Amino acid sequence: MAEPAAQMRFWGWGESDHAGGLPEHALEFLRQTIGTSGPHPPVALEQVVLEPTRLPEAVRGELAGICGSKHVRDGHLERVLHAAGKGYPDLVRLRAGEPEGAPDAVVHPADHAQVMAVLSLCSARSVAVVAFGGGTSVVGGLAPLRGEHEAVISLDLARMGGLLKLDRSSCTATVGAGMRGPALERLLSGEGLTLGHFPQSFEYVSLGGCAATRSAGQASTGYGSIEKMILGLRLAAPAGEIALAPLPASAAGPGLRQLLIGSEGTLGVISEVSLRLRRAPEARAYEGVFFESFAAGSAALRELAAEHVLPDVARLSDEQETRMSLALAGRGGIKGAIGRGYLGARGYSGGALAILGFEGATGEVAFRRRRALQLLRRAGGLPVGTAPGRAWLKGRFGAPYLRDELLEHGVMVETLETATQWADLEALHARVGEAIGSSLGTPSLVMCHLSHVYESGASLYFTFLAPQREGAEIEQWRDVKRAASQAIIDGGGTITHHHAVGRDHAPWMSSEVGEEGLRVLAAVKAELDPAGIMNPGKLLSVSR
Ligand SMILES: Cc1cc2nc3c(=O)[nH]c(=O)nc-3n(C[C@H](O)[C@H](O)[C@H](O)COP(=O)(O)OP(=O)(O)OC[C@H]3O[C@@H](n4cnc5c(N)ncnc54)[C@H](O)[C@@H]3O)c2cc1C
Repeated sequence: MAEPAAQMRFWGWGESDHAGGLPEHALEFLRQTIGTSGPHPPVALEQVVLEPTRLPEAVRGELAGICGSKHVRDGHLERVLHAAGKGYPDLVRLRAGEPEGAPDAVVHPADHAQVMAVLSLCSARSVAVVAFGGGTSVVGGLAPLRGEHEAVISLDLARMGGLLKLDRSSCTATVGAGMRGPALERLLSGEGLTLGHFPQSFEYVSLGGCAATRSAGQASTGYGSIEKMILGLRLAAPAGEIALAPLPASAAGPGLRQLLIGSEGTLGVISEVSLRLRRAPEARAYEGVFFESFAAGSAALRELAAEHVLPDVARLSDEQETRMSLALAGRGGIKGAIGRGYLGARGYSGGALAILGFEGATGEVAFRRRRALQLLRRAGGLPVGTAPGRAWLKGRFGAPYLRDELLEHGVMVETLETATQWADLEALHARVGEAIGSSLGTPSLVMCHLSHVYESGASLYFTFLAPQREGAEIEQWRDVKRAASQAIIDGGGTITHHHAVGRDHAPWMSSEVGEEGLRVLAAVKAELDPAGIMNPGKLLSVSR
């Protein structure tokens, strides 16, 4: 059985002893560009307002009969910790002590059999079930909605985090769904292996949650996103179980694995995942390359994709994001290494910075890197050394801590993402950026980077900041989210490249898969979850 995962702050990211503190120059930059206010500290835990639990005592007893009484909890802290994910509106509400709701109890099953028994009981007793992995959803995927049911429980899979099998010759591993990303990588590094899945939320994600959300890590350009890594899985559904063996490939009909990956807890609970592993990289080369514009940089990355020499990590910041990164890095950071003097002398005034990371066997990394840099130079790229790459690696999991700091200073900070074909990428970048900017008004900062590069296109990841509209923070967020989502759909992008659908993107699902597509998904749900207890209001919900 797995170690219990460390407990995150209920109102933000990380654990309570994590030191924050925006450097003064970064704060000054924010004061000058968008303005700050505050401090706006979160309320104390005791001040968080929850409705009394609605779980009938008899059902609580039956759940305790399955999992053990100490694994069915309804204490204040436990319910608050499972009341939401880590999206911007979740944090705004939790910091104010006003979550939308909370599960009526939190249940911690030990294994697949207990999950099956819990789902069967909840179906019979009309209790909704929200699977809870790492708790990092940013799309309302964990909202404890009861739907039409009497009560709702959060099914926390942290106890199901063990290594079930490691097959060294096939380079595969089977793990319990609750295993956290860092725990898996620690285990694999002892074997000279890696999964290579590093979302920005890596420190807390569970492998089951990644599977359920079709997640993509920062190195997905090289390692692929989770859907490419999962070879087999086991699903516990109210109607029964589906077990798919870890095969390298199969032509046995439509891809059932792919139907379950990304199902977001609406069809059942993914209890085990079998993963393709890789040898841990012998060599790593991370560096920066400057382009005169975002358009020039994206054309260069497109060329690398066509020539099959893409790095494993490829991120190209647009002009606004580059400016912001340089400002926040300060004199000693990236700015020192590639500051105005260096770039100015070479004829670059603004520009777009790309971070490229190559990983693998020493000779292979050297070959790919040499060829890639040759092509990038030809496309107008200016290599600026390893300092930006090292700085990015050091700070790669730091943004969520920064977000907490910004909220403390009255700054709205949100991200959203999409993907499209190369042919539409520039227009989509402009359209979504404009939609976000005009919804926020001034002052605001809207920036974007291109990442997760494919032969046919890439993902666009937007980050935006604005002064919070005090007292109307959620309306402000809803307005900008709606405007951006509509711009994404109108511009031919996907409503989500890797954050998943949850509740927030559900209204745009029909634009993505069509009404008939939605009916097919609903029919699958009706088969696996006839009582409709699994994660109500997510993925398939059509209400706007
Ligand atoms: C700061 C930050 C950065 C992020 N960066 C990235 C990123 O780089 N790439 C990326 O892909 N995502 C990113 N995310 C989003 C999030 O981390 C991913 O969606 C992640 O895969 C969720 O995993 P989790 O274990 O935390 O799942 P949870 O948040 O616990 O659950 C997510 C959804 O899946 C369901 N679920 C969870 N476990 C299971 C299971 N075993 N079976 C069935 N359903 C289940 C839940 O009910 C919920 O609907 C980020 C989030 C934050 C807060």
